[in-house]
Amino acid sequence: MLRLAIQKSGRLSDDSLNLIRECGISFISSSLKLKTECTNFPLEILFLRDDDIPGYVADGVADIGIVGENVLVEEGKQELTVEKLGFSKCRLSLAVPKSAEYNSVQDLNGKNIATSYPNLLQAYLQEQGVKANIHTISGSVEIAPSIGLAEAICDIVSSGSTLISNGLKEVERVFKSEAALIATKELSEEKREILEKLLFRIHAVQRARKAKYILLNSPNDKIEEISRLLPSVKAPTVLPLAEEGWSSLHSVVNEDDFWEIIEKIKDAGAQGILVVPIEKMII
Ligand code: ATP
Ligand code: MG
Repeated sequence: MLRLAIQKSGRLSDDSLNLIRECGISFISSSLKLKTECTNFPLEILFLRDDDIPGYVADGVADIGIVGENVLVEEGKQELTVEKLGFSKCRLSLAVPKSAEYNSVQDLNGKNIATSYPNLLQAYLQEQGVKANIHTISGSVEIAPSIGLAEAICDIVSSGSTLISNGLKEVERVFKSEAALIATKELSEEKREILEKLLFRIHAVQRARKAKYILLNSPNDKIEEISRLLPSVKAPTVLPLAEEGWSSLHSVVNEDDFWEIIEKIKDAGAQGILVVPIEKMII
């Protein structure tokens, strides 16, 4: 059985659990339980504080884990990364009071900066040739300037609304982060096989999230032109319609290109276009 560590409750929890569920893995979760065994896959889930996940995986207490890259790199454990997962995207940024004059990162020389990420901040400042005093605090970093603890902060930002509501402005981006799947260095052969199976399912789920299934009706003399416009796994499926001279074309399009493709195929004569989500995609 493979042991997976995920955040017990916080910004990573829902997306981590949903990913496992979308992989078709069932388990009973309760807010009181600290671990649970999956019922239809050899996986046990441990629910932990996110800060503890890299250490547990490094020590082999958990075999794999899901954690933000910000925490992983801060703890110097980036070598455990198996792959990025594409959710919980955020950035670590420097911010100063809205009213402060700020021209460049050099303005931070000799200043006090409050953060929960001293290592990431130190590495960034060093790279920029800035010498500042780093004050490590574990939470509520954004109030540090207003209580006189620091002239600047370095904290996690996603929309920026927390900064604004605390009278701060974002001035530099220090680190870009998203959730990552990590694994311990020494996995037994058996556990590695389970991890491979899990990764196979994760990839199918991730591919499906980006892809849409598209069905449309095409006059027979336009099939070739429309097929050329449609990306597909191999080639579009073409089925005759009950109406003479018409066919139904089925294919898969990427969410990112899809509006552009739809316009082009409409102009080429496609009608009755349906776009539907895909649950899993194995290629
Ligand atoms: P814990 O109690 O487990 O220690 P925490 O308070 O340290 O939790 P959360 O605020 O739940 O952590 O954030 C967990 C992770 O989610 C962060 O380390 C970061 O990778 C990511 N994250 C944080 N804030 C955001 C945000 N606003 N949007 C998206 N992802 C975020
Ligand atoms: Mg934490």
